[in-house]
Amino acid sequence: MATLEHRLRDVHARIDSACIQAGRPRSAVQLLCVSKTQPADAVRAALAAGEHHFGENYVQEALDKMAALADLRANLVWHLIGPLQSNKTRVVAEQFDWVHSVDRLKIAERLSAQRPSHLPPLQVCLQLNVSGEASKSGVALAELPELARAVAALPGLRLRGLMSIPEPAADLESQRRPHHVLAQALSDLRDGGLALDTLSMGMSADLEAAVLEGSSWVRIGSAVFGARPAKQTMDAQ
Ligand SMILES: *Cc1c(COP(=O)(O)O)cnc(C)c1O
Repeated sequence: MATLEHRLRDVHARIDSACIQAGRPRSAVQLLCVSKTQPADAVRAALAAGEHHFGENYVQEALDKMAALADLRANLVWHLIGPLQSNKTRVVAEQFDWVHSVDRLKIAERLSAQRPSHLPPLQVCLQLNVSGEASKSGVALAELPELARAVAALPGLRLRGLMSIPEPAADLESQRRPHHVLAQALSDLRDGGLALDTLSMGMSADLEAAVLEGSSWVRIGSAVFGARPAKQTMDAQ
Protein backbone atom coordinates (compact mmCIF):
# COMPACT_ATOMS: atom_id res chain seq x y z
CA MET A 1 0.00 0.00 0.00
CA ALA A 2 1.31 3.45 -0.89
CA THR A 3 2.23 5.59 2.09
CA LEU A 4 1.70 9.32 2.37
CA GLU A 5 5.42 9.82 1.71
CA HIS A 6 5.20 7.78 -1.51
CA ARG A 7 2.11 9.61 -2.70
CA LEU A 8 3.69 12.99 -1.96
CA ARG A 9 6.82 11.96 -3.83
CA ASP A 10 4.68 10.93 -6.82
CA VAL A 11 2.75 14.21 -6.78
CA HIS A 12 5.95 16.26 -6.63
CA ALA A 13 7.38 14.19 -9.48
CA ARG A 14 4.24 14.92 -11.55
CA ILE A 15 4.59 18.65 -10.83
CA ASP A 16 8.32 18.49 -11.66
CA SER A 17 7.78 16.90 -15.06
CA ALA A 18 4.83 19.15 -15.91
CA CYS A 19 7.02 22.19 -15.13
CA ILE A 20 9.78 20.84 -17.37
CA GLN A 21 7.26 20.19 -20.15
CA ALA A 22 5.82 23.69 -19.71
CA GLY A 23 9.26 25.33 -19.54
CA ARG A 24 8.33 26.87 -16.20
CA PRO A 25 10.52 27.07 -13.09
CA ARG A 26 9.50 24.52 -10.47
CA SER A 27 9.29 27.34 -7.92
CA ALA A 28 6.39 28.86 -9.89
CA VAL A 29 4.03 26.06 -8.83
CA GLN A 30 3.04 25.38 -5.24
CA LEU A 31 1.33 22.33 -3.81
CA LEU A 32 -1.81 22.90 -1.78
CA CYS A 33 -2.63 19.66 0.05
CA VAL A 34 -6.42 19.34 0.17
CA SER A 35 -7.10 17.77 3.56
CA LYS A 36 -10.92 17.91 3.53
CA THR A 37 -12.48 14.80 5.15
CA GLN A 38 -9.00 13.74 6.33
CA PRO A 39 -8.23 13.56 10.06
CA ALA A 40 -5.93 16.03 11.79
CA ASP A 41 -3.28 13.31 12.00
CA ALA A 42 -3.08 13.22 8.20
CA VAL A 43 -2.21 16.93 8.22
CA ARG A 44 0.34 16.29 10.96
CA ALA A 45 1.95 13.58 8.84
CA ALA A 46 2.03 15.74 5.71
CA LEU A 47 3.60 18.57 7.70
CA ALA A 48 6.25 16.16 8.97
CA ALA A 49 6.87 15.24 5.31
CA GLY A 50 7.53 18.91 4.50
CA GLU A 51 4.15 20.31 3.40
CA HIS A 52 2.84 23.54 4.88
CA HIS A 53 -0.23 24.51 2.85
CA PHE A 54 -3.56 22.82 3.50
CA GLY A 55 -6.90 23.34 1.79
CA GLU A 56 -10.27 22.76 3.41
CA ASN A 57 -13.79 22.89 1.96
CA TYR A 58 -16.04 22.85 4.98
CA VAL A 59 -15.63 25.63 7.54
CA GLN A 60 -16.70 23.71 10.64
CA GLU A 61 -14.57 20.70 9.78
CA ALA A 62 -11.61 23.01 9.22
CA LEU A 63 -12.10 24.77 12.57
CA ASP A 64 -12.16 21.45 14.41
CA LYS A 65 -8.97 20.39 12.65
CA MET A 66 -7.26 23.72 13.35
CA ALA A 67 -8.11 23.36 17.04
CA ALA A 68 -6.63 19.85 17.10
CA LEU A 69 -3.48 21.22 15.41
CA ALA A 70 -3.21 24.49 17.35
CA ASP A 71 0.29 23.58 18.58
CA LEU A 72 1.47 23.65 14.94
CA ARG A 73 -0.32 26.84 13.88
CA ALA A 74 2.88 28.77 13.12
CA ASN A 75 3.90 26.13 10.55
CA LEU A 76 0.54 25.73 8.85
CA VAL A 77 -1.02 27.89 6.17
CA TRP A 78 -4.76 27.31 5.92
CA HIS A 79 -6.63 27.86 2.66
CA LEU A 80 -10.42 27.80 2.33
CA ILE A 81 -11.31 26.38 -1.09
CA GLY A 82 -15.00 25.57 -0.59
CA PRO A 83 -18.19 27.64 -0.75
CA LEU A 84 -18.52 30.34 1.89
CA GLN A 85 -21.80 31.62 3.33
CA SER A 86 -22.08 35.02 4.95
CA ASN A 87 -22.79 33.66 8.44
CA LYS A 88 -19.36 31.97 8.41
CA THR A 89 -17.22 34.89 7.22
CA ARG A 90 -16.11 36.06 10.67
CA VAL A 91 -14.44 32.81 11.73
CA VAL A 92 -12.91 32.48 8.28
CA ALA A 93 -11.50 36.02 8.44
CA GLU A 94 -10.09 35.22 11.87
CA GLN A 95 -8.68 31.74 11.24
CA PHE A 96 -7.68 31.31 7.61
CA ASP A 97 -4.72 32.71 5.67
CA TRP A 98 -6.22 32.35 2.19
CA VAL A 99 -9.69 32.09 0.67
CA HIS A 100 -9.72 30.82 -2.93
CA SER A 101 -13.48 30.72 -3.38
CA VAL A 102 -14.70 34.32 -3.16
CA ASP A 103 -17.40 34.89 -5.78
CA ARG A 104 -19.57 37.71 -4.38
CA LEU A 105 -18.78 41.25 -3.27
CA LYS A 106 -20.89 40.91 -0.13
CA ILE A 107 -18.74 38.01 1.10
CA ALA A 108 -15.55 39.90 0.26
CA GLU A 109 -16.74 43.02 2.10
CA ARG A 110 -17.56 41.01 5.20
CA LEU A 111 -14.20 39.21 5.13
CA SER A 112 -12.40 42.52 4.77
CA ALA A 113 -14.31 44.20 7.61
CA GLN A 114 -13.91 41.16 9.88
CA ARG A 115 -10.22 40.51 9.24
CA PRO A 116 -8.49 41.20 12.59
CA SER A 117 -6.15 44.19 12.37
CA HIS A 118 -3.21 42.35 13.96
CA LEU A 119 -3.16 39.88 11.05
CA PRO A 120 -1.87 40.55 7.53
CA PRO A 121 -4.59 41.03 4.90
CA LEU A 122 -6.44 37.86 3.98
CA GLN A 123 -5.10 36.52 0.66
CA VAL A 124 -7.98 35.91 -1.73
CA CYS A 125 -8.74 34.55 -5.16
CA LEU A 126 -11.96 35.04 -7.05
CA GLN A 127 -13.61 31.84 -8.18
CA LEU A 128 -14.56 32.04 -11.85
CA ASN A 129 -17.33 29.87 -13.23
CA VAL A 130 -15.63 28.25 -16.22
CA SER A 131 -18.35 25.62 -16.70
CA GLY A 132 -21.41 27.79 -17.37
CA GLU A 133 -24.76 26.34 -16.31
CA ALA A 134 -23.12 23.18 -14.99
CA SER A 135 -21.84 24.96 -11.88
CA LYS A 136 -23.60 26.98 -9.21
CA SER A 137 -20.37 28.44 -7.85
CA GLY A 138 -18.16 31.12 -9.27
CA VAL A 139 -18.62 34.55 -10.78
CA ALA A 140 -19.53 34.72 -14.47
CA LEU A 141 -16.79 35.94 -16.80
CA ALA A 142 -18.85 39.00 -17.77
CA GLU A 143 -19.09 40.11 -14.13
CA LEU A 144 -15.48 39.36 -13.23
CA PRO A 145 -13.78 42.72 -14.01
CA GLU A 146 -16.20 44.74 -11.87
CA LEU A 147 -15.97 42.28 -8.96
CA ALA A 148 -12.17 42.19 -9.20
CA ARG A 149 -11.85 45.98 -9.10
CA ALA A 150 -14.16 46.20 -6.08
CA VAL A 151 -12.42 43.39 -4.16
CA ALA A 152 -8.95 44.77 -4.94
CA ALA A 153 -9.93 47.98 -3.17
CA LEU A 154 -10.90 46.32 0.12
CA PRO A 155 -8.32 47.06 2.85
CA GLY A 156 -8.59 43.79 4.77
CA LEU A 157 -8.00 41.65 1.70
CA ARG A 158 -5.22 41.19 -0.78
CA LEU A 159 -6.61 40.05 -4.10
CA ARG A 160 -4.07 37.63 -5.60
CA GLY A 161 -5.79 36.04 -8.57
CA LEU A 162 -8.34 33.54 -9.81
CA MET A 163 -9.52 30.04 -9.01
CA SER A 164 -11.70 27.54 -10.85
CA ILE A 165 -13.17 24.07 -10.54
CA PRO A 166 -13.84 22.89 -14.10
CA GLU A 167 -16.00 19.93 -14.99
CA PRO A 168 -13.90 16.76 -15.10
CA ALA A 169 -12.54 15.94 -18.56
CA ALA A 170 -10.76 12.78 -19.70
CA ASP A 171 -8.02 13.92 -22.04
CA LEU A 172 -5.29 16.51 -21.70
CA GLU A 173 -6.58 18.83 -24.43
CA SER A 174 -10.09 19.04 -22.93
CA GLN A 175 -8.58 19.54 -19.49
CA ARG A 176 -6.46 22.42 -20.74
CA ARG A 177 -9.35 24.38 -22.26
CA PRO A 178 -11.02 25.70 -19.04
CA HIS A 179 -7.58 26.31 -17.50
CA HIS A 180 -6.69 28.37 -20.53
CA VAL A 181 -9.88 30.40 -20.03
CA LEU A 182 -8.86 31.12 -16.43
CA ALA A 183 -5.32 32.08 -17.42
CA GLN A 184 -6.67 34.40 -20.12
CA ALA A 185 -9.06 35.99 -17.62
CA LEU A 186 -6.15 36.68 -15.26
CA SER A 187 -4.11 38.14 -18.06
CA ASP A 188 -7.00 40.45 -19.04
CA LEU A 189 -7.36 41.68 -15.46
CA ARG A 190 -3.63 42.38 -15.33
CA ASP A 191 -3.86 44.28 -18.61
CA GLY A 192 -6.62 46.26 -16.91
CA GLY A 193 -4.14 47.38 -14.25
CA LEU A 194 -4.66 44.92 -11.38
CA ALA A 195 -1.47 43.50 -9.84
CA LEU A 196 -2.41 39.80 -9.72
CA ASP A 197 -0.05 36.83 -9.68
CA THR A 198 -2.04 33.72 -8.80
CA LEU A 199 -3.90 30.99 -10.66
CA SER A 200 -5.42 28.36 -8.38
CA MET A 201 -6.24 25.53 -10.76
CA GLY A 202 -5.59 21.83 -11.16
CA MET A 203 -6.58 18.88 -8.99
CA SER A 204 -5.39 15.25 -8.76
CA ALA A 205 -6.74 14.30 -12.19
CA ASP A 206 -5.64 17.33 -14.19
CA LEU A 207 -2.61 18.90 -12.53
CA GLU A 208 -0.47 18.48 -15.67
CA ALA A 209 -2.99 20.38 -17.79
CA ALA A 210 -3.16 23.10 -15.15
CA VAL A 211 0.62 23.50 -14.89
CA LEU A 212 0.86 23.67 -18.69
CA GLU A 213 -1.64 26.55 -18.62
CA GLY A 214 0.17 28.48 -15.90
CA SER A 215 -1.21 27.26 -12.57
CA SER A 216 0.49 28.65 -9.47
CA TRP A 217 -1.41 26.52 -6.91
CA VAL A 218 -2.38 22.95 -7.69
CA ARG A 219 -4.99 21.77 -5.16
CA ILE A 220 -4.36 18.08 -4.63
CA GLY A 221 -6.47 15.87 -2.37
CA SER A 222 -6.76 12.20 -3.25
CA ALA A 223 -3.36 11.91 -4.94
CA VAL A 224 -1.76 13.09 -1.67
CA PHE A 225 -3.97 11.54 1.01
CA GLY A 226 -5.57 8.62 -0.82
CA ALA A 227 -9.25 8.22 -1.68
CA ARG A 228 -11.75 10.18 0.39
CA PRO A 229 -14.91 8.71 1.84
CA ALA A 230 -17.65 9.95 -0.55
CA LYS A 231 -19.36 12.23 1.91
CA GLN A 232 -20.34 15.49 0.26
CA THR A 233 -20.18 16.76 -3.27
CA MET A 234 -17.98 19.70 -4.06
CA ASP A 235 -20.72 22.25 -4.67
CA ALA A 236 -22.88 21.28 -1.73
CA GLN A 237 -22.39 22.40 1.83
C1 LIG B 1 -11.68 18.27 -3.24
C2 LIG B 1 -11.15 19.44 -3.94
C3 LIG B 1 -9.87 19.42 -4.53
C4 LIG B 1 -8.99 18.19 -4.56
O1 LIG B 1 -9.57 17.19 -5.33
P1 LIG B 1 -8.76 15.85 -5.69
O2 LIG B 1 -9.40 15.39 -6.95
O3 LIG B 1 -8.95 14.93 -4.55
O4 LIG B 1 -7.35 16.22 -5.87
C5 LIG B 1 -9.40 20.57 -5.12
N1 LIG B 1 -10.13 21.71 -5.16
C6 LIG B 1 -11.36 21.77 -4.61
C7 LIG B 1 -12.12 23.04 -4.67
C8 LIG B 1 -11.91 20.64 -4.00
O5 LIG B 1 -13.13 20.73 -3.48
